[in-house]
Amino acid sequence: MSKIKEKGESGIDVTIEKKLTALLKLQHIDSEIDKIQIIRGELPLEVQDLEDEIHGIETRLDKYKGELKELEKNISEKKAEIKNSNSLIKKYETQLTDVKNNREYDSLNKEVEYQNLEILLADKRIKEYNVSIEQKNAIIEDITKKHNELAKHFKQKKKELADIMEETEKDEKRLLEQSQENEKHVDDRLKYAYQRIRKNFKNGLAVVSIERDSCGGCFNRIPPQRKIEIAQRKKIIVCEYCGRILVDNDLADNVK
Ligand SMILES: [Zn+2]
Repeated sequence: MSKIKEKGESGIDVTIEKKLTALLKLQHIDSEIDKIQIIRGELPLEVQDLEDEIHGIETRLDKYKGELKELEKNISEKKAEIKNSNSLIKKYETQLTDVKNNREYDSLNKEVEYQNLEILLADKRIKEYNVSIEQKNAIIEDITKKHNELAKHFKQKKKELADIMEETEKDEKRLLEQSQENEKHVDDRLKYAYQRIRKNFKNGLAVVSIERDSCGGCFNRIPPQRKIEIAQRKKIIVCEYCGRILVDNDLADNVK
């Protein structure tokens, strides 16, 4: 083992070899976590989207149902007005049988005529309200149908997700703990570099070994001198093409 020692973040003496080993372990663990994320895929997002969509539909339904109530209230008001007009007419008609002069007769007739017009108007409004109710009911029916379809779909997807979560959550928790444990052996600067490199690549590989004299990440050739330097483990060496951290095969075999 190398005699050159460096002070690590946690205060433990960490040699480059130890750092590389910890980094590679971290890479293995994080790749496992990536695999779990791939298994879950778009499902968590899909479930969330469906939930949002259903919520939106329910808000719309509530709005239409509120409008329906309002229309029904309007109709009862108009019906009450008609009832009132009818009783007034009845009252005026009784009074008409007992009129004293023409002026009174004309006046009462005008009142009756006015109340009849009020009734016609109220009837017209009721018809309009009923048309609106019919339209809104048709919309509500459409939306409800869509809501039920979505709710069914949501239930399926949620179950699917719950099953996958149940299968993977425990593994993920264990891996995350391992990942955190391993991060302790890597200083912050290196950890951030590692995380940054990981983000650069779709496969999340930041630490790779040498494969057939080439970088295991981008497969560009590594010059022999550089290969020797990597094997010496005296400093952290990155691929000059893709920027991934390179480890020699012996180290990689040990960490497997
Ligand atoms: Zn490379």
